[in-house]
Amino acid sequence: MKCPACESVMFVVEYEGVELDVCQDCQGVWFDRGELELVLGDGAELQLTATHTDEAERDCPLCRAAMGKMNIGPAGGVMIDVCPEGCGLWFDRGEVGDLAVSLQDAGRQLPQSVMDFLRRMFPADGV
Ligand SMILES: [Zn+2]
Ligand SMILES: [Zn+2]
Repeated sequence: MKCPACESVMFVVEYEGVELDVCQDCQGVWFDRGELELVLGDGAELQLTATHTDEAERDCPLCRAAMGKMNIGPAGGVMIDVCPEGCGLWFDRGEVGDLAVSLQDAGRQLPQSVMDFLRRMFPADGV
């Protein structure tokens, strides 16, 4: 699968049976539909809110539809790209960490194993 941001070939990282696609050039990460909830551990759905931005549109790496910009998470949250056909979610570098921090700030305790995984995977994120 190719990175929707920079077109590099992504590699697969497995965590707890979930396969994530990560771009080694731009450090973005793709979650197939439902995978983010699996990684975060408790299956709780995260709020998605449509938003507007001047940021470039990306195409879904699976179906090629133009992805929409959405805010995810509590308190306005983090802006990510979401496939309108429901294939999944794209996080640019740093955004997974930002989401984890905003969830913790909102009082949602993420399992230690999840935080360790995020730190290992995304050391630049400051999780
Ligand atoms: Zn990339
Ligand atoms: Zn799609």
